[in-house]
Amino acid sequence: MKKALFVIAAICACLMVVSVNAQEWKSGIQWKEPPVVDPGPETAPANVPSDAIVLFDGKDMSAWDNGENWKIEDGVVYSGRGYVTTKQVFGSIQLHVEFATPSEVKGEGQGRGNSGVFYGPYEIQVLDSYINKTYYDGQCGALYKQNPPAVNACRKPGEWQTYDIIFMRPIFDGEKLVKPGYVTVFQNGVLVQNHLQIKGETSFVQPPKYSNFNAQQPVRLQDHGNPVRFRNIWVREISDDPVQPIEDESPVKPFDVFGPQD
Ligand code: MG
Repeated sequence: MKKALFVIAAICACLMVVSVNAQEWKSGIQWKEPPVVDPGPETAPANVPSDAIVLFDGKDMSAWDNGENWKIEDGVVYSGRGYVTTKQVFGSIQLHVEFATPSEVKGEGQGRGNSGVFYGPYEIQVLDSYINKTYYDGQCGALYKQNPPAVNACRKPGEWQTYDIIFMRPIFDGEKLVKPGYVTVFQNGVLVQNHLQIKGETSFVQPPKYSNFNAQQPVRLQDHGNPVRFRNIWVREISDDPVQPIEDESPVKPFDVFGPQD
């Protein structure tokens, strides 16, 4: 009897935790609506730089864990059952992703063409935000729940779009944050996030905080129950330092540049 009561109490406690966890966290910030910018018509797949690591070339999803559960058809892959996560992990990266939300418009708000491009636990939202209002820090191009895109540069549902993302990884000393992460995003060639400081993981239920201290992270694509298409995905690992010092034995002095002053 005691055991049965204990089990019931444990189940109730679990349900309470689940219901509390399922509550949406809101930042309380009143964002302005990002103005709409027409990025122009869709384009052919972008070129792949010679030093890029190709994550999806239209043929197979072997670079990804769970890739077998995403269907490939005519050179594109459809978001399927569960997230896909690259087998390889990366430091700071330049990431190129092409995506198209479903041409058949179904649902609204967060329920329309939802997916996401992640570096580890940090999501750049993928959503059909073409005449589809939702909370601004959750629309397409947002660093989810942290910052809305500067502008709404979405193409129409079904049209191919591009993300060019620079994720500068956070630097940790053990579990101590030494330097936060930063993200820059171009959507369809239009700047939507400009060297934005990442406050931590992008969660629906919690304020952002850093709790994944891995120095390298995989790229992940979200399954949110909507058949978003992807093609031409590649990544380049980049330096953690945006500015590389010039290593020169005889540094140039102002005198050398401007000549003798008198
Ligand atoms: Mg998403």
